Amino acid sequence: MVKKIGFIGLGIMGRPMALNLLKAGYELSVFDIHAEALEALRLQGAVVCGSPRELALRSEIIITILPDSPQVKEVALGNNGLLEGMSAGKLLIDMSTIDAATEMDIHQQFRAIGADSLDAPVSGGQIGAEQATLSIMVGGEESSFDLALPVFKALGKKISYMGKSGSGQITKSCSQIATALATQGIIEAFALAQTAGIDIAKVREALSGGFAESKVLMITGDKIIRKDFAPGFKLKLYSKDLRIAKKAAAERSLVLPGTALLSGEMDALVAAGKGELDFSALYDVMNDSKKD
Ligand code: NAD
Repeated sequence: MVKKIGFIGLGIMGRPMALNLLKAGYELSVFDIHAEALEALRLQGAVVCGSPRELALRSEIIITILPDSPQVKEVALGNNGLLEGMSAGKLLIDMSTIDAATEMDIHQQFRAIGADSLDAPVSGGQIGAEQATLSIMVGGEESSFDLALPVFKALGKKISYMGKSGSGQITKSCSQIATALATQGIIEAFALAQTAGIDIAKVREALSGGFAESKVLMITGDKIIRKDFAPGFKLKLYSKDLRIAKKAAAERSLVLPGTALLSGEMDALVAAGKGELDFSALYDVMNDSKKD
């Protein structure tokens, strides 16, 4: 039974996930580039490490949840990185949302020394991370999935094995395409209501219970109505996820018109300095641009 877990990336998602692992009784080692993030975990009993290498040496399973492919690559394969502390039997679980090709590259390099890796991106947001109700989509060897299952169960509810390395990330892209386009649907519905002088909170209420009801309507819709644009899920991370989805589609000669449109919109917002806002801020930005 796995007891010692290393955790890297203690941000909006990682911090509550790491706390849930401590609650579940695992011995936790942690690393992050931000000292404040580490302190909160140290106070709860985690051991703070000086590098990913040191963390890998102390751990049986290592979890990363970092912003994007370059950070995962640096932590896994860079100087003083995980690979230098990995050995046969150790397992990396990358729960970040990144490019499937990067996951497959790391997978190959870890397997070459007898270690292993899984890509296991998540859906469910900050609330899902806090309440340990995340959906987890996993790619890699099935034997490693079986080994990691008790750890996944301490973090999430819906845990799906999707197939070979990279499949978890492709599945996450499917999730991001579906939720991004649903968000655009809510934004356009609210925009019409507002223009027609109808209270958008009443529209949300009227739509709930009908075919348009969804988590996006209930949760993102509520954030839009309350103008609560604190992240949540940062626009810059959503724009990154849609770029990843577009790349995965392009590599397979697949055209995704709705995804391409939204991806362009989000990239422009990030370029305009709105990347740190929650993605629900798309609504206000769209309405602002209408007034120009
Ligand atoms: P975040 O920016 O809040 O946290 C990222 C953490 O990684 C920070 O603590 C940062 O200091 C740390 N970090 C960055 N570079 C590092 C490095 N080189 N070494 C060590 N630590 C480093 O991001 P988040 O919202 O927690 O998202 C993390 C990942 O989870 C992203 O890939 C995101 O797309 C995905 N995700 C986020 C949500 C969400 O709702 N926030 C939902 C699902 C998936």
